[in-house]
Amino acid sequence: MKLASFAAAAVLAAGAAVQAAPVLAPPAPLGPNVQPFVHVPGGQIAIQHLRIIDGTGAAPIDDATLLIDGAKIGAILPAGSAVPAGYRVLDGTGETALPGLVGMHNHMYYVARPNLDASGHSDGPVLLPQMTFSAPRLYLANGVTTMRTTGSVEPYTDLNVKAEIDAGHLVGPHMDVTAPYLEGPGSRFIQMHRLSSPEEARRTVAFWADEGATSFKAYQNITRAELKAAIDEAHRRGLKITGHLCSVTYPEAAALGIDDLEHGFFVNTQLDPGKQPDECSAGTGTPTLLKMTPGSPEATALIKLLVDHHVAVTSTLPVFAQDMPLHEPLQPRQMDVLSPEANEAYLFSRNRMATRAQTAAGAEDRQAYLNDVGLERQFVAAGGLLMAGPDPTGDGGVIPGFGDQRELELLVEAGFTPLEAIHIATANGATFEKRIDRIGTIAAGKQADLVVVKGDPGQKISDVENVELVFKDGIAYDPAKLINSVRGMVGIR
Ligand SMILES: [Zn+2]
Repeated sequence: MKLASFAAAAVLAAGAAVQAAPVLAPPAPLGPNVQPFVHVPGGQIAIQHLRIIDGTGAAPIDDATLLIDGAKIGAILPAGSAVPAGYRVLDGTGETALPGLVGMHNHMYYVARPNLDASGHSDGPVLLPQMTFSAPRLYLANGVTTMRTTGSVEPYTDLNVKAEIDAGHLVGPHMDVTAPYLEGPGSRFIQMHRLSSPEEARRTVAFWADEGATSFKAYQNITRAELKAAIDEAHRRGLKITGHLCSVTYPEAAALGIDDLEHGFFVNTQLDPGKQPDECSAGTGTPTLLKMTPGSPEATALIKLLVDHHVAVTSTLPVFAQDMPLHEPLQPRQMDVLSPEANEAYLFSRNRMATRAQTAAGAEDRQAYLNDVGLERQFVAAGGLLMAGPDPTGDGGVIPGFGDQRELELLVEAGFTPLEAIHIATANGATFEKRIDRIGTIAAGKQADLVVVKGDPGQKISDVENVELVFKDGIAYDPAKLINSVRGMVGIR
């Protein structure tokens, strides 16, 4: 992204056909922790010769001029339009703008396995270290302008981070903070509370809603009665609830009124052998997924049920791609942000998966993944709302922000077109979040939350990695500076 001179803009503006909209101030003045990452301060900005992928799924607009008026998108002008007076002009030749990503499974923590060795053994308990410092920076740097935390281990930290970002004191995306996991006895994670009754589930939802949480997530060992109580309390307050389920099957959760299901079709246990009501099965959904081939009567019935009940599905392919043999390795720029321990965990895991690929279990992993992406496509074809998130929990192999880009690439690998994948990762999340009138697509009057990348991700989706600028509320942030500021920190802080 090159900056043309301000004077040149004024000359260009002579005879401009478009009236400048009133300039809206950015929501809050930016403090000293944020200012160093600002590349272009807010104001009136015109990006010329820009390709625009607006996030609706429509064909790209070539050689457009994008006007940004303070925190809002002012207009999209066709090729050859003059720039109105007073705009700072940027040259977008060879670049594409897309809506800021709406990351729908974007944790603020890492999963640490103490004393992990090459065999995969580690000492319990598994820990979830918070990444308050690095995660918001990495999300924003990689184009995520709105995110849902989708399960919190340090809820007050997450709530404070959101407030500090909104106040201009910290750098990061807009946040939908999810309350602590709604989980029962038998959890793998020592940091999660264990619910013991539906009334406690209701009280927990009420408490965290009062504290400021704006979304909820049920987990693997919740009972149907607890889930029902949590859903009802969340809905009574106009809030949504998702689930990474196991003890409750997808059809059960849909019937209870859940709004969203995490991890595509990987964790539905309805056909798992030995599944007992209200109890997580040993297979945690893999046997069901292996049986539920796309287009099968079981798949079609489930998808119809989800669509009829308006249950969204969040695709989190990067974390499952970790189980695919010979999946794409992390790039050096990604490994640079890992702590030494996370780096080692990633390499150990990669080696184990390469070995597992030779076994029957490895073949099952591959088939499960292929079934899932087929079901995700069938769900969208049937009118389902599919959303995107990385789930950055995979032994260092899935990293905040970089993982969001990887999700787009994996959606395309799964058979979606690049424009469909971008729509899923932007507008669909915004629709679910009930913010589509303000974010999720590039349109006049919306928040100026967008990503400018070198290249054309409409043709080659991996161009989403070439982030030049990330605009949030009309202010352009410098991705390289953000990424450099967290080198070696993923897994620690
Ligand atoms: Zn997760």
